[in-house]
Amino acid sequence: MRQWLWLAMALLALGSGGRRALAAGGDFLLLPDRVWTGQADTAEAGLAVLVHDGAIAAVGRPDTFALPAGVRRIELPGATLTPGLIDLHAHLFLHPYDERSWNDQVLTEAQDYRSLLAAKHARATLLAGFTTLRDLGTEGAGYADVSVKRAIEEGLIAGPRLYIATRAIVAGSSYGPGPRGFRPGLDLPQGAQAVNGVDDAMRAVREQAAHGADWIKFYADYRVGPNGETLPTLSAAEMKAIVDTAHQIGRPVAAHAGSDAGVRMAIEAGVDTIEHGDGASEATLRLARQRGVAWLPTLTAVAAIGQYFDHYRPGGEPTPRMRQSQRAFRDALRLGLVIGNGSDVGVFAHGDNWREPEWMVRLGMTPAQALHAATDVAARILRQQDRIGRIAVGLRADLAAFEGDPASSIDALRKVVFVMKEGVVHRAPATP
Ligand SMILES: [Zn+2]
Repeated sequence: MRQWLWLAMALLALGSGGRRALAAGGDFLLLPDRVWTGQADTAEAGLAVLVHDGAIAAVGRPDTFALPAGVRRIELPGATLTPGLIDLHAHLFLHPYDERSWNDQVLTEAQDYRSLLAAKHARATLLAGFTTLRDLGTEGAGYADVSVKRAIEEGLIAGPRLYIATRAIVAGSSYGPGPRGFRPGLDLPQGAQAVNGVDDAMRAVREQAAHGADWIKFYADYRVGPNGETLPTLSAAEMKAIVDTAHQIGRPVAAHAGSDAGVRMAIEAGVDTIEHGDGASEATLRLARQRGVAWLPTLTAVAAIGQYFDHYRPGGEPTPRMRQSQRAFRDALRLGLVIGNGSDVGVFAHGDNWREPEWMVRLGMTPAQALHAATDVAARILRQQDRIGRIAVGLRADLAAFEGDPASSIDALRKVVFVMKEGVVHRAPATP
């Protein structure tokens, strides 16, 4: 009877254009070696997880479960089940800068092409065990992230749960491509929405929110100094107008900031997260902690850029910029800031998001701390802790499993064997 119901629903869905057909979930009994729930630091052996209708229905010893008829058993020998991982700083519309420079991507790649690339990137991300992304700007691809998010939600393409920032906001003549480095008089496409003045800044927030932005992102500073130094771009009044307008209509705010002055101005304007933050002084980091501002260090992007343009070789001497961002990370860790997993993926290959938790462990976090940063802590930063980020009854069934135990050895995150989002299996071991 039940089967017929599913079939009828699926056919109905197909009749209405194929929407939701992929969303039909069922009952699954997941049997890994260990479960890391996100509620403690160590993984526990002997636990199983029951999934019903896209949600986590039970966590415990499998012999205590009342199993529904027709439940599908998925054995995950040798693996640890974790909450689906979260990356809070992604750019699905970018690909690595050693393949094509940022300027060339924004200037020469058509938006349609970039959307197709984004779909490919979304799939690679999901299959790597990352079931949620906060995408922080399309970098010149307008509102295309709204459509990619919709296509994922409707099951047209495979991808993570998306929280999006659409175009992002920058000060006039301060981002790119150009005007610096280009002949004057060119009308260049821009990597973000440029604003001049408080009214213009408020208008941009309202426009972006109305078009579908879940978060508002602005650039507090950029390389605008006479010799390309990173200096604040927007005024304090513009930053405050952005934050107040966004908060009034229920959108949290992320600030790109690399200089100490830029980070401090963004915090004082009331932002919710700081992105990068490499130049932040100890005093500024203390202020962030005091105000409850979360920090996304993007260590991998800094290393990748070092590799592309500054002769850095993995395992070798870090570049000066890497040294600076690593110093800030260690300070933030010592001072007890809320640190989330945000990699700036897009600068490096989508699907390699595991590189950021690895960096965080290399620089002093325990593997469990890095896992928390990519699960329950990240969900709290997103204000989605009641839906995702832990393995607990009632939360959405966003899950991943990795060979070995990432809570004791973070490089296990490279070996994903199982991915489920919203109760739908996207990756599973071959059944014997
Ligand atoms: Zn970024």
